[in-house]
Amino acid sequence: MFGLKTDWSLEVPDRYFTLENYEGGVARWCPACGDHAVLSAVQRICRDEQIPPEKVMAVSGIGCSSRFPHYMHAYGFHGLHGRALPVAEGIRSRRPDLHIWVATGDGDCCSIGAGHWIHAVRYNMNMTVMLFDNNVYGLTKKQTSPTTPVGFSTNTHPRGAWLPPLNPLQATLGFTNVSFVARTVDWNPLHLYQTLLAAHHHKGLSFVHILQRCPTYTDHVFDAVRDNPDALQLLIHENGITADPPVAKMYKNQLEHDPSDLAGARKLAESLDPLAIGLLYRNLDAAHYDEYTAQGMEMTAEERLEGMNKALDRFAI
Ligand code: SF4
Repeated sequence: MFGLKTDWSLEVPDRYFTLENYEGGVARWCPACGDHAVLSAVQRICRDEQIPPEKVMAVSGIGCSSRFPHYMHAYGFHGLHGRALPVAEGIRSRRPDLHIWVATGDGDCCSIGAGHWIHAVRYNMNMTVMLFDNNVYGLTKKQTSPTTPVGFSTNTHPRGAWLPPLNPLQATLGFTNVSFVARTVDWNPLHLYQTLLAAHHHKGLSFVHILQRCPTYTDHVFDAVRDNPDALQLLIHENGITADPPVAKMYKNQLEHDPSDLAGARKLAESLDPLAIGLLYRNLDAAHYDEYTAQGMEMTAEERLEGMNKALDRFAI
C-alpha cells in the first residue's frame, strides 16, 4: 500500500553507481547556461555518495531550471508554477528515505511561489533547495523577475526594471525556523559542489542561492563578480564549508564567519559588495516538521485501519 514502510524496505543487492546511472534525458538548456553546471554537480554528489538512483527525488516548479528532473535518472516531479516546495514537502512526509533535490528559479520561488518559500523554510523538512537565480524569467523569454537589477531592460520593462530587486538570502534569513543558508556560483564547479554537498548533508531544509548565468537573456549581469574574484568574499570557518585549496587560492578575499551567528549572517546577506559565498547560517537545533509527519510511519496496515476505525467511531450516531 502506498506510504507504508514495507514499500521501500525491499532488499536490494549492492551495486556501484557511475555518473551514467544518474543521467536522464539530454539537457536542452542553451549552450553555456549555468544550469548545466548545477546538474553536473548534483549528479557527481549522487555518485560520490553512492545514493541509489531509486532513492533520489528531483522536484521542480516551472521555468528553465525546473526542467531539472527530466535530466536526472531518478524519481522526478515537474510541478506547477511556484509549487515545487509543497510537492517536495508532501513527498518528504510519506517517503523519509528519499534524498530530495528541489530546483526552483528566481521567478518560480521568489514570485508566485513566495508564500510556499516562507513556510517551507519554517517547516524545515529534510531537502536541498537550489535557487537558480539568473535575474530573469528565461523560459518565457525575458520578463522582469523579482531579482532583476534596476534599469535592466526586459520585455515587460523595456526602459529598465523599476523596483529594487528582492534579496533572496536576506529574505530567507528572516523566516522563522531557518536552518541552513548558503550561496555559491555556477562558474566555480568546486565551490558549487562543496556547497551543495554540505547542503545535502544538512538535516533539514538547506537553501542554496546559486548565481546562475543566463547567456541568452541576462548575459553579463554577473560579469563583475565572475571576472573579479575579489568582488566575492569567501566565508571560512571550522564549522563552515571546507574550501578546497584551488578555491581558497582563487578567492583571496576571505572572512572568518561563524555560521551559528544569525545576526552576522543577516549582515552578510545584506552586503552586495563584496558578495559573500559559502555558508552564511546553519542551525542544527531548528524544529523539523517531518518528525511530526513521520509519526505512525512504522504502523502496519492493520494498525492503521484499526486506528482509523477508532477515530471514525467517535462520530457514530
Ligand atoms: Fe539557461 Fe537562459 Fe537558456 Fe534558460 S534561457 S536555458 S536560463 S541560458
